[in-house]
Amino acid sequence: MSYDYDLFTIGAGSGGVRASRLASQYGARVGIAEESRVGGTCVIRGCVPKKFFVYASEFSHAFKDAGPYGWTVGDVSFDWKTLVANKDTEIDRLNQIYITNLKKAGVELFQSRAELKDQHTIHLVEENRDVTAEKIMIAVGGTPWTDESIEGHDLGITSNEVFHLEELPDSVVVAGGGYIAIEFACIFAGLGVDTTLVYRGPTLLRNFDQDISAQLHKELEQKGVKLELSTIFTKIEQVESKKHVSLTNGKMLVADQVMWAVGRRPKTVGLGLEKAGVETNRGGAIVTDDHHKTNVDNIYAIGDVTDRVNLTPVAIREGVAFAETHYNNTPTTMDYEFIPKAVFSQPPVGTVGLSEQEAKDAGIEVDIYKSDFRPMKNILAENPERMLMKVVVEKATDKVIGCHLIGHEVPEMIQCLAIPIKHGVTYAEFKATCALHPTAAEEIVMLPKAS
Ligand code: NDP
Repeated sequence: MSYDYDLFTIGAGSGGVRASRLASQYGARVGIAEESRVGGTCVIRGCVPKKFFVYASEFSHAFKDAGPYGWTVGDVSFDWKTLVANKDTEIDRLNQIYITNLKKAGVELFQSRAELKDQHTIHLVEENRDVTAEKIMIAVGGTPWTDESIEGHDLGITSNEVFHLEELPDSVVVAGGGYIAIEFACIFAGLGVDTTLVYRGPTLLRNFDQDISAQLHKELEQKGVKLELSTIFTKIEQVESKKHVSLTNGKMLVADQVMWAVGRRPKTVGLGLEKAGVETNRGGAIVTDDHHKTNVDNIYAIGDVTDRVNLTPVAIREGVAFAETHYNNTPTTMDYEFIPKAVFSQPPVGTVGLSEQEAKDAGIEVDIYKSDFRPMKNILAENPERMLMKVVVEKATDKVIGCHLIGHEVPEMIQCLAIPIKHGVTYAEFKATCALHPTAAEEIVMLPKAS
């Protein structure tokens, strides 16, 4: 049986593009289909534009800090349309680079929705024709979820729309207590928007180390973000130009915009998975084995559509593992241990490894090293923002099994710390490393034992 392609990938986001380019460079005949813009969530409507918005909103804090350093900052004003237009220009550039790189690698790109017809056949909807492939890779990612049981839920926007708002709202209510909710609450507050964050639990970032969550609460409140905890929406109503948001705690919030950030779901609806016999779990995620294979022998899936670890670099590495294994004769398994993570809140969070609670739940006896201090820059600036560093160490071996940071630039720190931690560094080795003075990062080699 001969097929049109050796590999056909559905979804040209971070994972799909990497798998396809590599496979093609290794000599496979590769096609890829994308229904939206090439680049996927991260480049088009996620990490990249989000980071530009974070940078934009951080200036307001810098203006405040400048006074005690001798600067007189005159009247400042912010123009939302300028930010959105410049962000769009950069996203267009990146989108073109992705397209060019696919072409350079010899991958045939179809700007079309693609759906499975059977185990080897893909229907290209816009072109109204079928293609066949020996192997199929599904890398369609996820999509924001909103709670449709809430009356007026469609009055709220999601992270899909927030990058294209015509106007910056004066006030916003954000639902959720995870990455997107916190990052956007900080962005809005930094841009001067009256911001309320509504979260169903008592502590934000539920799966993070609880010392980090507690510190984040304090910092968010200091930055003017109002927190409504242990409550959810019951109803959203449009009343003239405002949205009235009713909560289960009896309060009613009035705002210009409401944003849902209550999680994302794998984008598998209508993909034809049942026609090809591909199994999904209850949440709609494609079930795969350790080598990204679905229950159908020639169909694979990587990235957020599998709902494993929903991060861009993870999808990319899964794509690499797949291509190396199948097209370069180099069996490669994705390693999910010690993946560094960051929340681009203000101040940001950086974390790698186990939280204190996760270590205890796993029956590991731990030593905790931690410190909470005001970085030098903030002292002169009279900025109350503090930094917290916490290292979780396995008592029996002295190995660092978790590191949790909150404070200025900690995502940059955690990327570097993840290297020795992944390779089994002990806390004695941290302490044997000379400090670099004066930095905030130097504290990591001098933390006092907390327990
Ligand atoms: P998260 O899973 O981070 O957070 C979802 C939040 O919504 C949680 O606080 C959750 O509460 C809450 N929630 C879930 N269901 C409901 C409900 N029915 N009613 C009220 N609240 C609810 O998802 P995000 O949407 O923020 O982000 C999606 C994924 O994208 C992340 O998991 C992450 O992998 C990725 N991402 C990564 C970023 C980064 O690396 N910096 C940035 C943005 C996204 P609870 O905690 O109680 O379950």
